[in-house]
Amino acid sequence: MHFALINNNRTEAQPLLKGLCTCCSKPVIAKCGTRKIWHWAHKSKTACDNWWEPETEWHRTWKNNYPADWHEISLLDERTGKKHVADIRTVHGLVIEFQHSHIDLQERTSREQFYKKMVWMVNGTRLKRDYPRFLKGKKNCFENPIFYNTENPKIFRVDLIDWCFPSAWLESSVPVIFDFRGDGSKDDSEGMRNTLYCLFPQVGRYARVAEISRKAFINATTNGEWTFRVQEFINDFRKEDEIEQNIQQQTISCTSNKVIYTWRGIPLFGGYKEYRKRLSASYKSIRKGKR
Ligand SMILES: [Zn+2]
Repeated sequence: MHFALINNNRTEAQPLLKGLCTCCSKPVIAKCGTRKIWHWAHKSKTACDNWWEPETEWHRTWKNNYPADWHEISLLDERTGKKHVADIRTVHGLVIEFQHSHIDLQERTSREQFYKKMVWMVNGTRLKRDYPRFLKGKKNCFENPIFYNTENPKIFRVDLIDWCFPSAWLESSVPVIFDFRGDGSKDDSEGMRNTLYCLFPQVGRYARVAEISRKAFINATTNGEWTFRVQEFINDFRKEDEIEQNIQQQTISCTSNKVIYTWRGIPLFGGYKEYRKRLSASYKSIRKGKR
């Protein structure tokens, strides 16, 4: 952990210091070596928060984008009587969990159910193949197209999502952000590692991924807009899916081998071109209606 209590003050690890764990109040000692980042460790090997993973430079760098009194906030799970330490909990009640190691499905689900208003930040450089596979999908280099453009140039519909993201995260009930930059030492000839990729919880038929800059993510989570913005997007996705489904039901009737495009049951003279035009106009009107 980054902080321990000394005389009730949250204190960073320094050589020879002793303190108390902010979560379980048991004694912790400062570990200030050269191999790992300076941190606090429990004196005995008793399990404190069983969700805690050893911190890396990547965790620490990310956490330092937020005020220190939002770091390592311990919260009691009333159902189990256990305490858990959130990496970041903002004043707006949003929990940000930075995950480097593999996580199993059960733990991921329990953490989502416990924190509820949360977002995962996943280190996308843990396995060597993760980034190349993502890149291949993003650039549609597989035999099937994966990333489809939408009206919003930063948002994509993603098909065959398991071809480009690690399977552990695909059915998450909260947004999952992939950070492919790691510690910044990896080759980035494509210039794409600096962008974050947000996989939304899936609503309807399609997975959706948004590109977001680090700065925009940090700002939106710090000022509290994040949760509303995510909800707005999810509502839009639902509406888009509904409209498309309605249209599909009414659209295509086949006579011999000719396709007749219709709009709300009425055949269109312009055929497919007119149909696309109307579809895109109806997406635009959804977006306008919301603001
Ligand atoms: Zn503890």
